[in-house]
Amino acid sequence: MSKFIAGPYIELRGTVQRSQLSPFAEVLTSPFAGSDRTDTPAASGFGTLARIIRLNHLAPRELSSLLGIRVRRADDLSAVMTFSEARQIAVARALHLPEVPAEWNLSTWFPFKAPSSLLATGWTLRYCSECLLDGNHTLLHQLPWVHRCAWHDVALRDDCAHCGLPLAVKADWVPGENLQCACGQSPLDTDRILRAQAPESARRFTDEYLQWAAEKRAHTALVVPELAGDPRPALATLVELPRSWRQRVGSAAESRANDPRRLPTPIRGVHVRTLEPAEWAPVPDRDGLIGLEEVRRDRPGFLTTPKRLAPMMSAVAVDLAMRLPDKSLTDREMSLFLAGAGIEAPQSFDPASRSFSGEVSLLPPTCVGGRQFLNLLCVHPSAYRLVAGLVDAALEGRNLFDFHAQATRQEFDLLMRGCGQVLARGYAEGLRSTLAVHVPELYAQPRLAPRLRQPWALLGRTNGRLASIRVAWVPLSCASRGEAALLEAEDHANQRRQRSRGRRKK
Ligand SMILES: [Zn+2]
Ligand SMILES: [Zn+2]
Repeated sequence: MSKFIAGPYIELRGTVQRSQLSPFAEVLTSPFAGSDRTDTPAASGFGTLARIIRLNHLAPRELSSLLGIRVRRADDLSAVMTFSEARQIAVARALHLPEVPAEWNLSTWFPFKAPSSLLATGWTLRYCSECLLDGNHTLLHQLPWVHRCAWHDVALRDDCAHCGLPLAVKADWVPGENLQCACGQSPLDTDRILRAQAPESARRFTDEYLQWAAEKRAHTALVVPELAGDPRPALATLVELPRSWRQRVGSAAESRANDPRRLPTPIRGVHVRTLEPAEWAPVPDRDGLIGLEEVRRDRPGFLTTPKRLAPMMSAVAVDLAMRLPDKSLTDREMSLFLAGAGIEAPQSFDPASRSFSGEVSLLPPTCVGGRQFLNLLCVHPSAYRLVAGLVDAALEGRNLFDFHAQATRQEFDLLMRGCGQVLARGYAEGLRSTLAVHVPELYAQPRLAPRLRQPWALLGRTNGRLASIRVAWVPLSCASRGEAALLEAEDHANQRRQRSRGRRKK
């Protein structure tokens, strides 16, 4: 190894290829103990920093004087080192690394195209207690679809293993005791860090994982809903790991079985559905796709449903009307709900004794001149706007005409079915939520009770062709307001947006 050391000073410049460098050279040039990254394969920026702070007895103020990063004492250092590129660059420079290691970049770990900031909402440091004792933290353990350490076989956690308090990740510590919990226990062990050597299986797994993620990322797109909440439940459900890893890094259900209190992200109540190309597909309907563009408007109001999707929306209204408890709808309302399917109320139908409601009558799809109009006021915007997101992801920058010309029938059909499913489900949930205001009995029915969910989607391609649409529906919290009030609030937000855009145009 001496042949790599030409003289007493080695200047590592950004132009030097990382692969040409010996890892030993870094150790020799870094002014800090614990900089050798060969002991901690795929370590995160935060893991590297925490280890260096511990071994070099650094004080919080030395983050600025020695490492060149300014942070407030109340800042979560793990979030800073994950989401602030400027701080990552500063630390890499202070450690004399030729560039920011790829493993510090959260999006390198994503099996779909998305910026690192995706996980900033709801961020908490998540770790393997065995790895961290050795001074190793990897972003693999932050991924919502990973629940166990692949080489230590322990469930990942985000709290103190001894007392359950949140981890002390603030930029505020006593030198030599960083990350130490208020209970006196520390998830880092200085002696173990000094002796630590990551298991060979850790290196192998992280290498294989990163390669798999890079391959997936090249042909998978994530569609994030408007007004997105915590992404973790959706991502934990959407991402499918290779079968051989599922057992190892654990499905959520398995880690829940092991320790019910330790489930890091609640994925209860998340529904997922995958659509794949059909063998037979109808002739692409370009006008239908153009019609869906209406969902992009500030306040879409009524959507002219593409012909292909109209029966799906009618079926939603019919299905609900037929399952409603007695005395829910008036005679006239019932016939409006059933009109789309061209059927009449059954003999047993028992009409409501209240008077006809204008609002209820506008809930089912309206047919005028052979065209169907769908009332989007009762659909949550995150559902109908996702339709636009699906179209964008499928078009990949092409315009609708080019897509229509270039896509296969199967691709076009898959996109339309995906849009239809999202719209139909969003409509079904919104319909129940709005109707429950007039028919409070719905709250008592487990299958009809109002519930709003937010869709997230993954679009997969094979050989450049759209090959799958996977949608996860995550429960939306509406606190004590009730679902209908939430829909109303979203409509008011749309109206404000519409008005402010109108003013700007003037
Ligand atoms: Zn571990
Ligand atoms: Zn503790």
